[in-house]
Amino acid sequence: MRRYRYRCIVCRTTSPVVTEIEALTAVGEAHRQTLHGGHFPDDEIAGQIDRLGRWYAALPPLAALHARIADALSDLHDIKTAGHYWWASAGATLLIGAVAALALLLVASAL
Ligand SMILES: [Zn+2]
Repeated sequence: MRRYRYRCIVCRTTSPVVTEIEALTAVGEAHRQTLHGGHFPDDEIAGQIDRLGRWYAALPPLAALHARIADALSDLHDIKTAGHYWWASAGATLLIGAVAALALLLVASAL
């Protein structure tokens, strides 16, 4: 399940989580029309978030990859909850570590 949020830096408010990109657009439009007369607040943020409420775009690449895997594993158990289960976070770490070790092994064997 995908989760999105809109944040207005000017008002210092963040929208509730929505699950569709169309709903995110509507939330942003409604906020702009109601509070800013249709203007786009500087530095507003809108986008997909992980189960911890962090914007993927704001995460470093490795942390974003970890979050996506941990989100997917946590969603397998329950899509209604927030946060990562400890086993999902550990599984994501193990998976990334295993792929890195495998890549290292392949490079070492090719040399
Ligand atoms: Zn605002």
